[in-house]
Amino acid sequence: MSVLTDLIYGGSHAVAGLTEGAVNDAIAKYGADHPIAFPDTAYFFPTIYAATGVKVKTLGDLPACVGVLKSLITDQEDLGQALNAGLATAVGAEILEGLKFAEPKDAYEQAAVPGIGFVPDPVIRSLGVPLVTGDIPGVAVVLGKAENGEDVAKVVKDYQSKGIMTFMVGEVIEQCAEAGVKMGLELRVIPLGHDVTAVIHVVTVAIRAALIFGNVQPGDLAGLLKYTKERVPAFVNTFGAIDNVVVSAGAGAIALGFPVVVDIDLGENQVPGALESCTDHNETVKKSLELRGIKIKSKELPIPVAFAAAFEGEIIRKADMKVEFWSAKNTTCELVLMKNMDEVEDHKLVIDGPDIDSGDLEYALATCVYVAGKKMQADFESVIERKIHAWFNYMEGVMHTGQRNQFRIRISKDAYDKGLRLTHFAEVLYHMITDEFDAVVDKCEVHLITDPVKATAFLNDVAIPRYNMRDDRLASMTDESVDRFFTCILCQSFAPAHCCVVTPERLGLCGAVSWLDAKATYELNPNGPSQPIMKEGCLDERTGRYTTVNDAIKDATHGAVEEVTLYSIMEDPMTSCGCFECICGIEPCSMGVVITCREYAGITPLGMTFSEMASMTGGGVQTPGFMGHGKHYIASHKFLKAEGGVGRLVWLPKELKDQIRPYWQKAKPYLAFGIECGKAFVQVVAAAYSIYIYGRIIQDSMHGIKDSLNWFKGLN
Ligand code: SF4
Ligand code: ZN
Repeated sequence: MSVLTDLIYGGSHAVAGLTEGAVNDAIAKYGADHPIAFPDTAYFFPTIYAATGVKVKTLGDLPACVGVLKSLITDQEDLGQALNAGLATAVGAEILEGLKFAEPKDAYEQAAVPGIGFVPDPVIRSLGVPLVTGDIPGVAVVLGKAENGEDVAKVVKDYQSKGIMTFMVGEVIEQCAEAGVKMGLELRVIPLGHDVTAVIHVVTVAIRAALIFGNVQPGDLAGLLKYTKERVPAFVNTFGAIDNVVVSAGAGAIALGFPVVVDIDLGENQVPGALESCTDHNETVKKSLELRGIKIKSKELPIPVAFAAAFEGEIIRKADMKVEFWSAKNTTCELVLMKNMDEVEDHKLVIDGPDIDSGDLEYALATCVYVAGKKMQADFESVIERKIHAWFNYMEGVMHTGQRNQFRIRISKDAYDKGLRLTHFAEVLYHMITDEFDAVVDKCEVHLITDPVKATAFLNDVAIPRYNMRDDRLASMTDESVDRFFTCILCQSFAPAHCCVVTPERLGLCGAVSWLDAKATYELNPNGPSQPIMKEGCLDERTGRYTTVNDAIKDATHGAVEEVTLYSIMEDPMTSCGCFECICGIEPCSMGVVITCREYAGITPLGMTFSEMASMTGGGVQTPGFMGHGKHYIASHKFLKAEGGVGRLVWLPKELKDQIRPYWQKAKPYLAFGIECGKAFVQVVAAAYSIYIYGRIIQDSMHGIKDSLNWFKGLN
């Protein structure tokens, strides 16, 4: 037997033995009926569920899984068989990690601060958009213990600067921490745990992506492996000596289609394209990206700090802060303004007032960007302007929150010491705008006004009137006032059968694509993910049914979806990819609608959490009665239009209400009233029925929903 298969089988047997023992111990201790679950997921033990369709709910469900696991280890001298043994190790790792959640006071769970251990479903859903847009170009798994801690830290920092999402397992975590790598889910460097088995937490992210976005059916192992191989751009780097358990876990990764790069010399045991050695750590990143076919759009900017999407979530605390621009203390505003070609001088960067090295801690800041271009439209101003937030955040050591004339920027001492000054902010804006919006912006000029008098004058005389003008335009923009809608198929790289139809009053379900964004996307890239749908051939005004929309959907989904309505959640509702901000569903008792959002981990009156409701739809399928949507859509006149409007709403979590309230109050105060009435109603309902019983009824029997739906249809 070859050294490699020998190692794989050795590791698989070891993990199988451990798993069996641990399962037996747990059953002896707690009993077979003891419930067991990972936190906040609708997919049970995801690897087992996806591969076999078995829903693990109690300890008593596990012995059968151990049996399946052992049957995968055939000890045959064949690479395919050996990779199956790797999958067995993944199953074993999942069970071992899952058992840690059996004991509520377990040390593991106490240590489970966010980002460590199991990644909940809502987090995976939130990663949909950055993954499809390439903001996160790939996923790295770094495990082991490097001979020299600095080496692994350098590799991880390099991934971070490229936006690669990096999961770490083992002592590399401490090694990176010691070398000053900033970690956290929002920084895209995520420590998972110390045991090798913790690697399963990143594996289940890939596996749940297949279930959530890919509509892969539980039990379809071949479909699952195809999905992860083709659509999840992950790879593995191991550091230091590897034992047979690591090798066998690596075999599991290879079976999922993730290449493994080790830093020891495997000689002839390498498997080209799947398992390769790279002993020079300076080459690890390059080699790994090449193996997985990940291309990085490099942005070399003339600034003294790193610039990458991975720094978007960086938080700068007061103690680490050098200077601050904050609306609560000084004038601030940011504005992108379209001008005539002859009024803009390309690459003119002006700092009007003191720079941040003048000794003060707080400054005013008016960021004004003048753009001109033959194809530029006033509607694109806000599309470009909204990106300022992301671009400033991409600078390492810079934090930006808010927009327009309500924002806060902090610059860290560290970044300041590296030489970061305001000109660099101007450079970033200039380079990013002329790069990303080159199809419409021919010339770009940036003025950063820190002189408080001049900044205030700019705010009052130029910025505020422009904001007001835009708001009026947005308010007057309805589905009736335009002649076209747009498709968006960005999410098809994960959800191949999904297409959003974006209208002025219905933004994409991710919340990130408005009608103006889609329009700009189309202007910038006429063959890109957004295509116009001319508003013709209205079949039914109430539900928003159009022949042109159906044709576009059929075309965009390659026939997977034939008909959608724009305004109904019951009749041919729009499909969901999986990355939706909110999910709504029918509550059959009140015949009302319940909405919940990713941030709310609690249970809804449907007896389900966000993750459970979300699992009812997704992957580009239509599920009448359940629909994913963007937050702002709730305040739209078109929300639930076919079902009678927002008066149908009976419940939404406080978090969501608080976020939506300003929009309701601004435009449509009656909506808020509708919600309050609905809430009072559902409270009465809740008192009469056990919420839990209802949840069970819905979960167990879609039949009841169907009846209710028919009844509901009859009401309209
Ligand atoms: Fe994905 Fe729809 Fe958002 Fe486009 S609009 S990115 S398809 S969720
Ligand atoms: Zn999506």
